[in-house]
Amino acid sequence: MPSRRALIGGVAASVAAAVLAAPEVRAQTQPGVIVVGGGFAGASCARALKRMDRDLAVTLIEPEAAYLACPFSNAVIAGLRGIEAQTFSYDQFGSYDRFGDIALIRKRAVGVDAERRRVRLDDGTDIGYTRLVLAPGVDLRFDALPGYDEAASAIMPHAWKAGAQTLLLRDQLAAMPDGGVVILSVPPNPFRCPPGPYERASLIAHYLKTSKPRSKLIILDAKDAFSKQRLFEAAWQELYPGLIEWVPLSSGGRVTEVDPATRTLVTEFGNHQADVANVIPPQRAGAIAQSAGVADQTGWCPIDPVTFESRLQPAIHVIGDAAIGGAMPKSAFSANAQAKACAAAVAALVRERRPAQPKLINTCYSLVAPGYGISIAGVYQPRDGLLAEVEGAGGTSPLEAPLSVRELEAAYAQDWFRTITSEVFG
Ligand SMILES: Cc1cc2nc3c(=O)[nH]c(=O)nc-3n(C[C@H](O)[C@H](O)[C@H](O)COP(=O)(O)OP(=O)(O)OC[C@H]3O[C@@H](n4cnc5c(N)ncnc54)[C@H](O)[C@@H]3O)c2cc1C
Repeated sequence: MPSRRALIGGVAASVAAAVLAAPEVRAQTQPGVIVVGGGFAGASCARALKRMDRDLAVTLIEPEAAYLACPFSNAVIAGLRGIEAQTFSYDQFGSYDRFGDIALIRKRAVGVDAERRRVRLDDGTDIGYTRLVLAPGVDLRFDALPGYDEAASAIMPHAWKAGAQTLLLRDQLAAMPDGGVVILSVPPNPFRCPPGPYERASLIAHYLKTSKPRSKLIILDAKDAFSKQRLFEAAWQELYPGLIEWVPLSSGGRVTEVDPATRTLVTEFGNHQADVANVIPPQRAGAIAQSAGVADQTGWCPIDPVTFESRLQPAIHVIGDAAIGGAMPKSAFSANAQAKACAAAVAALVRERRPAQPKLINTCYSLVAPGYGISIAGVYQPRDGLLAEVEGAGGTSPLEAPLSVRELEAAYAQDWFRTITSEVFG
């Protein structure tokens, strides 16, 4: 008689084929672990599951043919890098080295029946699971800022998902005359990549300084403080004196409305007119998280900090930007770390073993200029039902440091990107 492990393993390859075949054939197959979303979180998780238990049936659902990475996309906007350096195909997923196949289904998940443990796909078919991992990233909240919707983003790009929007913002900056005003609006917390807007401001400032030196950059911020603030501000003073103006919440930085026709950003303290307006709107967990019933009234998904299982639906785990549960920032590094911890927990749970307590690390590099990097690091562990920061375990780059240290950090940033993308997609 075949073992349970062998049975589950035998099902691995058949799950994807069955989904593409007739529904009645598919209905007879046994379920395994389904991962929805092939970003830094989901693709890492699918691979980690296979590494941890080669006999586990793992299916990854991702509609796009290639992944476009946000880290380093600010360098594309500043003309320092091509979009192709951000693009990663899923070609390797069908045949992942000695650990065996991950079944890759190129469809969008459109619904989850949590009771029957089935995921519905955009072609009308559905597929069963023992455990489901949701990793859909963020959706932009086009209902949150009056005047700003999908049509407005064609005029005032958000560029907060990499791809066409990244190129649009780059092209608008390139077309802007010298002496123009660039405005970047930043939403309140939480949002994808806390230091991202300030890295973007830095690299746009580098572009303006070198190509359009009479121009100005205004950051309208819905907050009074931001990640790596002292490091960013010191670097702006040194590299871009007088070029960047940061307007915090208390000085009228919160944008309450926009008018794309005139590129006007309205705040409680007055109106600002931009030549190029980069509006980063509030965000929430991707749509599938809402329809699966794992997002709460905040729009994000509360999770158990040991297993990443949803607090709202059993047997569904949420990782990456879509999840909330403590101090961990929404970064690719965090997404990758959470994916591995979640995979270990899921691999234990499907074998009816007790999951171990994880410890997770995040490091976030930001480029302030080419060859000038700064970073922040943190360590997180479950405490009081949340992922809490381990006191004294992290920190930022030194405030006072020679250029050689900033150069090293810029090189580490490049190495980190190469390493993580080859681990996840290569
Ligand atoms: C400008 C910018 C710079 C950044 N720089 C850094 C950095 O330097 N370092 C860092 O660590 N992080 C950085 N980040 C943050 C990082 O990009 C995100 O934290 C990370 O991408 C989150 O990974 P994720 O897998 O949760 O979501 P995503 O990367 O968004 O992946 C989600 C995936 O799910 C798929 N998906 C969505 N819905 C469905 C569905 N219904 N069915 C199937 N598939 C679906 C999508 O197609 C996508 O492939 C940056 C972000 C921005 C915007």
